[in-house]
Amino acid sequence: MVMERTLVILKPCTVQRGLIGEVISRFERKGLQLVAMKMIQLTDEVLNEHYAHLSDRPFFNRIKLSMMSSPVVVCCWQGLDCVQVVRAMTGATNGRNAQPGTIRGDYSISTQENIVHTSDSVETAKIELERFFDEIDFFDYPQTLDAYIYASDEK
Ligand code: ADP
Repeated sequence: MVMERTLVILKPCTVQRGLIGEVISRFERKGLQLVAMKMIQLTDEVLNEHYAHLSDRPFFNRIKLSMMSSPVVVCCWQGLDCVQVVRAMTGATNGRNAQPGTIRGDYSISTQENIVHTSDSVETAKIELERFFDEIDFFDYPQTLDAYIYASDEK
């Protein structure tokens, strides 16, 4: 297993619905470590990059408008196999299909307004973290309960 970092964006729907704390609590309770976090206003320019894989879809402009409709919270979580762990906690894109117990399954009933963006692979996570954070934004600090979160041979 490898200590990884992944990007989570708490979307405008999450900020507006007062769910920032709920969502962050889930990652904390899982044992993941928060190593960077800030509130930002997304722009058309950064969203063209971030959602480039959707640029030919009919809803492309609409999701960009939705993502710019209020500030978002971007955060970086760290842990063993963090990328796939966070992705599993996120659930399916459409909140109506997402399993109960996942973030989208518990808080969303929409494909567009689906609470979080989470990186879908280790390679994407690296690119996305560089898109939203500078090196100085990351905090490298001991997680003092590590011995109760991981076995000694898990790192
Ligand atoms: P995910 O966020 O699960 O990785 P995608 O990368 O495919 O999913 O899509 C990015 C975002 O675009 C989704 O989280 C969702 O907000 C929006 N989206 C995807 N498909 C649709 C759709 N058919 N209609 C509206 N919005 C969509």
